[in-house]
Amino acid sequence: MFKNKKIFVLGMARSGYEVSKLLSKYNNEILVTDKKEQDIKHIEELEELGVTFIQSDDPVSLIDSSYDLVIKNPGIRYDHPLILKAIELGIKVVNEVEVAYHFLPREVFVIAVTGANGKTTTTTLVYEFIKAMGKRVHLGGNIGYPLSQIVENVEMNDVVVLEISAQQLHDCYDFNPNVSILTNLVPVHIDFFGTYENYIDHKLRIFMNHNSKNIAIINKSNKDSYESTKDIKSNKVYFSSSEEADACIKDSAIYYNDEKIINLNEIRVKGMHNYENIMCAIIATKELGISNETIKEVLNKFTGVEHRIEFVAKINGREFYNDSKATNVKSTEIALNAFNTPTILLLGGLDRGHSFEDLKDDLTHVTHIVCYGETKDRIKEFADECKIDCTVVNILEEATKFAYNISNDGDTILLSPACASWDQFDDFEKRGDTFKETVNSLE
Ligand code: ADP
Repeated sequence: MFKNKKIFVLGMARSGYEVSKLLSKYNNEILVTDKKEQDIKHIEELEELGVTFIQSDDPVSLIDSSYDLVIKNPGIRYDHPLILKAIELGIKVVNEVEVAYHFLPREVFVIAVTGANGKTTTTTLVYEFIKAMGKRVHLGGNIGYPLSQIVENVEMNDVVVLEISAQQLHDCYDFNPNVSILTNLVPVHIDFFGTYENYIDHKLRIFMNHNSKNIAIINKSNKDSYESTKDIKSNKVYFSSSEEADACIKDSAIYYNDEKIINLNEIRVKGMHNYENIMCAIIATKELGISNETIKEVLNKFTGVEHRIEFVAKINGREFYNDSKATNVKSTEIALNAFNTPTILLLGGLDRGHSFEDLKDDLTHVTHIVCYGETKDRIKEFADECKIDCTVVNILEEATKFAYNISNDGDTILLSPACASWDQFDDFEKRGDTFKETVNSLE
């Protein structure tokens, strides 16, 4: 299907690079274009494989009807002029996941995770569970390793766990995971999809080739997830953190099919949202026969994915958590709800003019706010309104040290900044790393 073809790859990035490398082995003639300059090492490597790279603002001028296929980077909108031109010329447009999927051996068990929130955490949990079972498992997709990169290492009977974005589902046609997880649906990426309905329609494509032998894992208490999946053909299995479901929470424990799997106090990560992610992972891996002992072993150790309410250290009775991924108020609300002990909250970052009002009801256990960065003065005003002690400093390192100095035994010190990082850091990862380095220097 992807052999002896003339292929136009729109957008290099990681997935364009990996899919070109993969397809170059199958006698394809490949042109990759990107409007941005690319790593010279990658270009040279592709050229050695016979792939042409052209940096161009005008890819439309490079395409004609001799091409058999366009592979679009998921981040590029589907009304991009090149895509419209390809459609006009009758050229099929697919994405990298769809291509790589065709190179998987037949007897492989694929678990795919999509949803508005919790994709990375759930994907990672599923992967950790299967690894702990001693099975051969591969992690890929939207999580930093394109499927094209890992597909050649996959052998018969391996398990492949994929994080899949709505954008990646757009140009998928045959992709058919054995188990598909939809963590939840809330209106996001409307700028890309135009409407929430269109976004949902894309997410549902993760079930599009399912029949009753495929499992769909669905959030029973998320109205949009529940309602929109009513007519899918999959064998539906439901989870909920707030009502009875196939997997649910009762008597401070997670149950699946009326069997107690694990007590909540045996789980290191915090928060209802994480219990939901865990339930998804339990349902998916029970299909592969995971034991409750293995689940417990992993959850006793799993401290979360880096920068997402990640446990950093316990120093003199104070627990430090890094939630640098919380770049908006909603994420900080979720993080605050994961704790009920006295908490010192580190807030601040890029000023987008956004309001902090929505945090008001979630601050009952917050004893002090330490704020820094561009938003510090507006956060101080907000804290004063809420009558919460607040200290203004300039940078995160200072905020971290100050929080430690005023903390008491038993306190939680939480970085969940409710702002993007770009006023002082390249990205949220660098911000989280700085926080962790500062915490570890306190020891
Ligand atoms: P994604 O990959 O979908 O962006 P992550 O697993 O990286 O999700 O989590 C990012 C943030 O989303 C977390 O820090 C948390 O604030 C929030 N989150 C995670 N899981 C859930 C969930 N199941 N429901 C709602 N919010 C969640």
